[in-house]
Amino acid sequence: MSPAGRYAPSPTGDLHVGNLRTALLAWAFARATGRAFLLRVEDLDRARSGSAERQLADLAAIGTDWDGDVVVQSARGTLYEEALHTLRERGLVYECFCTRREIAEAASAPHAAPGAYPGTCRNLDDAERATRRASGRPPALRLRAAVDAFTVHDVIAGHWTGPVDDLVLVRNDGTVAYNFAVVLDDGELGIDQVVRGDDLLSSAPRQAYLATVLGLTPPTYAHVPLVLGPTGARLAKRDGAVTLRDLVAAGSSVADVVGMIADSLDLPGVRTAAGLLAAFDPAALPRHPWTFTPESSTPVRAAGR
Ligand code: GLU
Repeated sequence: MSPAGRYAPSPTGDLHVGNLRTALLAWAFARATGRAFLLRVEDLDRARSGSAERQLADLAAIGTDWDGDVVVQSARGTLYEEALHTLRERGLVYECFCTRREIAEAASAPHAAPGAYPGTCRNLDDAERATRRASGRPPALRLRAAVDAFTVHDVIAGHWTGPVDDLVLVRNDGTVAYNFAVVLDDGELGIDQVVRGDDLLSSAPRQAYLATVLGLTPPTYAHVPLVLGPTGARLAKRDGAVTLRDLVAAGSSVADVVGMIADSLDLPGVRTAAGLLAAFDPAALPRHPWTFTPESSTPVRAAGR
């Protein structure tokens, strides 16, 4: 299996320029380092019908290409079930009956690690578990973690240490949890380079730790700055014309959009994915967030590369 990078969108709507920028970066990181590049549709959760097809069309339109078939998480249930079975056999899975509210309350107690699951259900005895089961609330399944922090290597953040808790493997509605699926998929697909938005940096220690528990080598990460909208908050659809289709409908060409993304990466004059790859220097990647305003999308007529 050749080493690979990937882009793994959730099909919840059209990709906006921030997502397209992250996708172009993930593609450029992989291609610039001789890796394969895979696309994975993360549709375990809130998939919107037709959204994956539109995302893939937009990714192709901006010039990214990928190797092999698109990987679709909803078709990979056996992989997740087998891994869960193995973890159970190793005694590393327990049932958690806590509601969000109970977790929030317990997590706000003095000395609790911020945002971490406080372990309420970790050591329930059989009688307590039977009482909780009888209440009718289906349990989530959590990992019995042996550490409370883990260090990842990130090309941008450096060696980065963050909290690890007893993360959810399967939600109480039976859905395989994002962290579990991502780690299993990345491991099984030979992905050793994960490039994604820096909103997920805080999840990386949990995921990397879980990888080691599963006997996998954690990938190298590059968590790239998110794109902000005009209000300074993370760019969102409500910020107006932000998807490729919106921008094209408003008069930009696809090359204009790629050019705008390249400008934000301090690569002026680049207007194609191939040009971006040729000029790409991971070490020179801007470390600050890019604020996308309507003016950012004013077509800049520059020489093509
Ligand atoms: N599917 C996740 C998202 O769209 C990304 C997961 C990842 O890259 O690890 O936010």
